[in-house]
Amino acid sequence: MPDYDGLLSELSVDLDAIAANWLSLKARLSRDADCAAVVKADAYGLGARQVAPHLYKQGCRHFFVAHAGEAADIAPELSRLTTLSRGDAAHIYLLNGPWGMPAGDMAAAGFVPVLNSLEDVRYWADAAAGAAAVLHVDTGMNRLGLSVADLDAPDMGDLLSKINLRYVMSHLAVADDPQDDMNARQLAAFRAATAKLGRPLRLSLANSAGILLGPDYHFDLARPGCALYGIHPRNAGPNPMRGVVCLRARITQLRKLAAGDTVGYGAAYRVPAGSAIKTVATVALGYADGYQRHLTGHGALVVGGAACPVLGRVSMDSVVIDVTDAAHVRAGDWAEVIGPQQPVDAVAAQAGTIGYEILTSLGRRYARRYLGET
Ligand SMILES: *Cc1c(COP(=O)(O)O)cnc(C)c1O
Repeated sequence: MPDYDGLLSELSVDLDAIAANWLSLKARLSRDADCAAVVKADAYGLGARQVAPHLYKQGCRHFFVAHAGEAADIAPELSRLTTLSRGDAAHIYLLNGPWGMPAGDMAAAGFVPVLNSLEDVRYWADAAAGAAAVLHVDTGMNRLGLSVADLDAPDMGDLLSKINLRYVMSHLAVADDPQDDMNARQLAAFRAATAKLGRPLRLSLANSAGILLGPDYHFDLARPGCALYGIHPRNAGPNPMRGVVCLRARITQLRKLAAGDTVGYGAAYRVPAGSAIKTVATVALGYADGYQRHLTGHGALVVGGAACPVLGRVSMDSVVIDVTDAAHVRAGDWAEVIGPQQPVDAVAAQAGTIGYEILTSLGRRYARRYLGET
C-alpha cells in the first residue's frame, strides 16, 4: 500500500544554498562594493519572509522589492533582527517607485523608493522633502528610469537638493550575454549620466549577470536576484550557482496503454500504431501548481533517475508521464519536477521560458519545507 497519509507534492527551498549563493556573489565584488538581495515577487516565488531574514543573518543589509506591500511583508522581521543583534538596520528599496502608500507613511516606514521618472522626482521632493530615495537613470532598457535629457531639467539641482539621495542606479538589458557590446555602451552611458549629476554619488548598476561582467560593473552596490535562487545568470556555460529548489510530486496511479489508446483532454496524445505496451503514471501536479500548460508535449519528470516525458495535455491538478523506461515504479513514488536531476533552467527551456517565470509561477498548494532555517 502506498503512503496515503503522505504529501501529494512538496517544495523544498534550501536557505543555506541561497546564503551560499549570496556569499559567493559578494566575494566576487570589488572591495568597496556592497551586495544587496533582490527579493521582489516574494523572493522569486520562494518566500521573502524566509529568505530576507536568512540573508540578513549573513550580513545582507540592502533588500530590493517591487511593491510597498512586499516591503511591509519583510520589514517587521528585519527590524526585529536588527534590534536582537544590535546590528545595522536593513534598507528596503521599492523598484517600482513611490507608489502604493502615502509618501509620508512610506518615508516614516523607512522604505526607500526608486524614482523612475521626472514626475517621481518632483513628487518625492515635494511630498517627502528630505526623505531617502534612489534615482534611476535609463541607459538603454527604455523601461524605467529618467532619460539623460531629463537630467538637464532646469529644476533638477533644486529637486535633488530636497532628496536624500542614497544611490543612483541603472539596469542592464543584456548582461546575460557578455559578448554583447550593449553592456559596454550602457556602462559608458551610466558613467556619463552620473558625471552630469556632479557631486560624489554612490552608484549601482549590476544585477546577477552584471556581477559576472567584472569589476567595472560593480560600483557601490550590486543587486543580484536570480542567481541567489540558483538560476543560471548567463545564457551559456556551466551554472556557477548552487541549486536551491527541489520540487517533487507523487505518482498517484499507473496504467498500461496499448496502440491507439489516448491520454488526457483533447485525446491529444495517441499511442502510435504498432507500439509495444506502455506504462504511464499519473502525477499529482498540474498547471494550477505552476506546471505550465505549455509543457504539454515538451516537459519531462524524473522518476528513478529516468527522464519520463509528459504525454498529452497538462491538466489543472495532474499530468501523465511515460514511465515505460523507468524501473520498478509504484504508486506513491515521487517524480522530480525541479531538483538536482532537472534544474529550474532545464524546466524553463522545456516550457520555452526563463527560470524566473518558472519560480515566480510556483503554486500555493505545495507543502513547503525550508532547509537551513534557524
Ligand atoms: C529584478 C531586478 C534585478 C535583479 O535581476 P536578476 O537578473 O534577477 O539578478 C536588479 N535590478 C533591477 C532594477 C531589477 O528589476
